[in-house]
Amino acid sequence: MSNSVPQVPAPFNEPVLSHAPGSPERAELKAALARMAGEQIEIPVVIGGREIRTGNTETVSMPHDHGHVLATFHKAGEAEVRQAVEAAKEAQREWAHWPWEDRCAVLLKAADLLAGRWRPVMNAATMLGQSKTAHQAEIDAACEMIDFFRFNAHFAEKLYQEQPLSSPGVWNRLDHRPLEGFVYAVTPFNFTSIAGNLPTAPALLGNVAVWKPAATAVYSGWQILKLLEEAGMPPGVINFVPGDPKAVSDTLLGSRDLAGVHFTGSTAVFHSIWRTVGENIDRYRSYPRLVGETGGKDFILAHASADAEAVAAAIVRGGYEFQGQKCSAASRIYVPESLWPRVRELTLGMIEKIKVGDPTDFRNFMGAVIDRKAYDKITGYIKHAEQADGVEIIAGGKYDDARGYFIDPTLVQVKDSAYRLMCEEVFGPVVTLHVYPDARWAETLKIVDETTPYALTGAVFATERKAVLEADRALRNAAGNFYVNDKPTGAVVGQQPFGGGRASGTNDKAGSILNLLRWITPRTIKETFSPARSFEYPFMGEK
Ligand code: NAD
Repeated sequence: MSNSVPQVPAPFNEPVLSHAPGSPERAELKAALARMAGEQIEIPVVIGGREIRTGNTETVSMPHDHGHVLATFHKAGEAEVRQAVEAAKEAQREWAHWPWEDRCAVLLKAADLLAGRWRPVMNAATMLGQSKTAHQAEIDAACEMIDFFRFNAHFAEKLYQEQPLSSPGVWNRLDHRPLEGFVYAVTPFNFTSIAGNLPTAPALLGNVAVWKPAATAVYSGWQILKLLEEAGMPPGVINFVPGDPKAVSDTLLGSRDLAGVHFTGSTAVFHSIWRTVGENIDRYRSYPRLVGETGGKDFILAHASADAEAVAAAIVRGGYEFQGQKCSAASRIYVPESLWPRVRELTLGMIEKIKVGDPTDFRNFMGAVIDRKAYDKITGYIKHAEQADGVEIIAGGKYDDARGYFIDPTLVQVKDSAYRLMCEEVFGPVVTLHVYPDARWAETLKIVDETTPYALTGAVFATERKAVLEADRALRNAAGNFYVNDKPTGAVVGQQPFGGGRASGTNDKAGSILNLLRWITPRTIKETFSPARSFEYPFMGEK
């Protein structure tokens, strides 16, 4: 045991590799894609480091080739979920007492493994299982996950340094304890990095987790688990329980040992989790921490002074990358009449160049949407738009599910700024646009603020500083991540801490110290070196 006061290596953002033709990373990724697409793996439930095959299975197929099965996974039933809670509690007895720097070392090692040998594997899993392009996989499954691991270790060090004042004869300390019980990590399909972060951020601080991945991202989730295992994560600290979401949740949210929920996904599901926790409140040992990052209806607002090219590029990149399935994806756009002809021409020109198809063909800019359910929901919106008055599909609108769940990048122009496509989260490559009279800038600011219940991301484009100021003020509560002259996607860990308010979540900013604060319960320790030996005070000496 060393007596040093360790310093976590200074964090830095993992450089994004280009995967350009001729690059070594491209060759490695292509090889991993070919190998992994040629195999069919079996994914067990993992509890206390033990692999369990329940026999109740589901298959994982490629969104862009739904006949191609990548894996079969075993689903945890009630008995396994209960075992996972016991395994987590057992593991916490040791893990919570590990020196904090050793817990950091596990994540730092995972980051380095992922930056090297594991990189093509995690990227390939994300491309095949979630239909991301090489670039989208690289910025998520490799870079963002590495950043989460490195920056969280750095923030943990800062958090542990947070200590109170002491006074003569007294030493005050804060013991940043982990929560008593387990954290239930519930992860979405759309970011492999979030799946890596939600169970590990609490674990870094000495917590233990029961992790339920999304059924559509079990494939990359399994790779995360193997990576963490190789990095030295002890058995039982993170337990992997894919399964029926409602049944798994009912068991875990009913447990006396539930210490917290670390959720990312849709608003409706987080509401149901919060409601269940409320109903069960008398059962718990302590008040569970509820952290949830949820849906969005993210805007781009152009002012008459905006640079039309920048607006068009933001619509296309912000709206269609990863098929619009980012919580931060631009999905409602407001353009002034005077700028519209130019923005229209540029945007339509860019959309025309977009290739949609199998992401393992690197020429494609977009892949398929995640599954049949998403495909039906998104195409349902397109069908509605085809019929509705005052609504025109000005680009795309075509879809085809013969081989994969492909939907063309679609741009819909609406007269009514309150039409459902301007208000509801579509979570697909459908961007809706409203043209407003230049003179109604002030009213438009109000419309942008009040149109949806969400407040995740938003962008304003303007070259006039006064317009930027006005938008900044009017839209202060309309987005947790606010962009000026930039697209509303692509937040980087350590640079733009991510999360939204209103119906978009608890805004605990994943990958920042603010998030880590939710996973500790500090104990204050006061130690007195010369304790009082009498109950009397000096003032009592005379009448
Ligand atoms: P989802 O809500 O369908 O699923 C998220 C997770 O919840 C999955 O693990 C799923 O299995 C589980 N789940 C589903 N039903 C449940 C139930 N009844 N009880 C408990 N758990 C249940 O979301 P998704 O389709 O995986 O992801 C897309 C959503 O996530 C979008 O709304 C998007 O905006 C949001 N999202 C938000 C952020 C953010 O940071 N704000 C980031 C990524 C995604």
